[in-house]
Amino acid sequence: MSDLDTPIGDGDHGNNMARGVNAYEASFEQKQPESISDILQVFSMAMISKVGGASGPLYGSALMNMVKETKGTETIDSYEQLGNIIEQGLAGIKKRGKTEFEDKTMVDVWEPVVQALKEGSLAKEQVERAEEYTQTLVAKKGRASYLAGRSKGHIDPGAASSALFFDALVDAIK
Ligand code: ADP
Ligand code: MG
Ligand code: MG
Repeated sequence: MSDLDTPIGDGDHGNNMARGVNAYEASFEQKQPESISDILQVFSMAMISKVGGASGPLYGSALMNMVKETKGTETIDSYEQLGNIIEQGLAGIKKRGKTEFEDKTMVDVWEPVVQALKEGSLAKEQVERAEEYTQTLVAKKGRASYLAGRSKGHIDPGAASSALFFDALVDAIK
């Protein structure tokens, strides 16, 4: 991910995300959250406090919205329900980042994932297709937007990290 962030950013996205995920694992061990909402809360705090950059607060807003959406939820037992939860996360990113679909950001992975889940399934091929599609786009948000047309031909790093999360989600719901 830091490799992807080198040509069109500042080369730190992989390190940023690794810091967040490590902090999440440490905090999970310590707090032992049990409910879906509490687990997301721990994840959200780790991303906000440790990731930094543009992506930390964006992932943080997504997760905060998902914490709210899952309060009192004991089980997630349909694709549609999962789609509704992730849709709230997507809304958080769009609001915080003032971002739309095809701005060449993580939104370009989150949006098709939400759509697929609402239609009743999610496959890794769909996640990958969304990630790959960002190569064709010109960046309108974040550091990559400074490059304008030269951002074309590169995968967006935040789209790539989001794709990793959703691949893990596909594995988890199989
Ligand atoms: P920074 O650019 O501050 O170094 P990162 O490298 O960690 O932060 O994250 C860059 C990623 O953040 C981009 O690849 C993109 O997916 C995402 N991003 C940046 N700005 C926005 C925005 N306004 N809306 C949505 N996503 C964004
Ligand atoms: Mg960066
Ligand atoms: Mg940075």
